[in-house]
Amino acid sequence: MGNEESTPIDDSVPSRTLSSRSIEGLAEHIKNGSAQRIVVMTGAGISTSAGIPDFRSPGTGLYANLARLNLPYAEAVFNISYFRENPEPFYTLAHELYPGKFRPTITHSFIYLLQKKGLLLKLFTQNIDCLEREAGVTDENIIEAHGSFARQSCIDCKLPYSADELKKHIDEKTIPRCHDCKGLVKPEIVFFGEALPPAFFQSRDLPGEADLAIVMGTSLTVQPFASLPMLVRESTPRVLINNDRAGDLGSRADDVLLLGDCDAGVRKLAAACGWLEELEELWKATAPKTADQIAKSDEPLKDKNEVLQDEIDQLTKEVDETLNLAKWHEATVRQELAARAEPAPSTKSNDQQTSLKTDEETESTSGLKEDASQPQNDSVDHLQDSEKPKM
Ligand SMILES: [Zn+2]
Repeated sequence: MGNEESTPIDDSVPSRTLSSRSIEGLAEHIKNGSAQRIVVMTGAGISTSAGIPDFRSPGTGLYANLARLNLPYAEAVFNISYFRENPEPFYTLAHELYPGKFRPTITHSFIYLLQKKGLLLKLFTQNIDCLEREAGVTDENIIEAHGSFARQSCIDCKLPYSADELKKHIDEKTIPRCHDCKGLVKPEIVFFGEALPPAFFQSRDLPGEADLAIVMGTSLTVQPFASLPMLVRESTPRVLINNDRAGDLGSRADDVLLLGDCDAGVRKLAAACGWLEELEELWKATAPKTADQIAKSDEPLKDKNEVLQDEIDQLTKEVDETLNLAKWHEATVRQELAARAEPAPSTKSNDQQTSLKTDEETESTSGLKEDASQPQNDSVDHLQDSEKPKM
């Protein structure tokens, strides 16, 4: 639906709502007060310049780490059945991606700027990284279509779990368990086989109420998210800030395409609105403290020996972490061996088939087969076709 080819609007067709189908026309629409209810839709492309590893691409450092844990296929890390049996790979990933390690991009700050100006009707994001929150966008303005690290709960009884406690587990690479039923706890990221958050479906009418839609950093390939821009009224201008054309953006009379890097596109749009300075200030505030600022706080600057000691501590910590991973791995292998020792059941559930696949993979290869995971990575963000909820 969202990914099908659409015919680009012919240059001779005049714009309807905008004075012109251009960044100037767009800026005019915003500055003259015609855009008071802006809907923003985002994807992974707005976070790549923050250094968020692309966990969908094989061959990244992240997958190399996951390969050590013998995943049957890369996406198993987001499969709820697999997670029930083997939560460790997901927690390895969570350790890498956990919020607080990355700085928001200027694109995230732009969304905050819209909120600050009272123009943001809603942000719909497919990202789980919480960077818009770190840029200042408040909870009530965000719909995280695929969930995020912002909340966590027991996968069985759904009892909420405290963020501090989860962070401690993720830092220490231990598995959090529900205080009530001892079920596994996970951040409320939507896994394969899980429904999208109710908030997504409850807010689906909002694009139809918008007077401007800004689509950024997404190829619009994952449903139902990919259909959101189509729910925007025909007379409402839409702008796409992305490396490539996406969805049906560019097919309507008031569609403006700013193709290229998200951060560059956002700066251009902000400049056209006369907001660039303000935007840069907001983004500057998201920077981690400089050595100067730290020195001004009461912590004294470290001497060479202390720095060296810190490095040793860090190395020790990394070795410890590797040992922890090894322990997980050992437990997994033991479990598999135990499973093999049992007589094979005559019928198998899906879960058992998943773990059987793990066994085969374990026997045939020491890690992840890149070839096997390639097609899946190309076609899907993180919801498989058969499991995509319908709009
Ligand atoms: Zn529970």
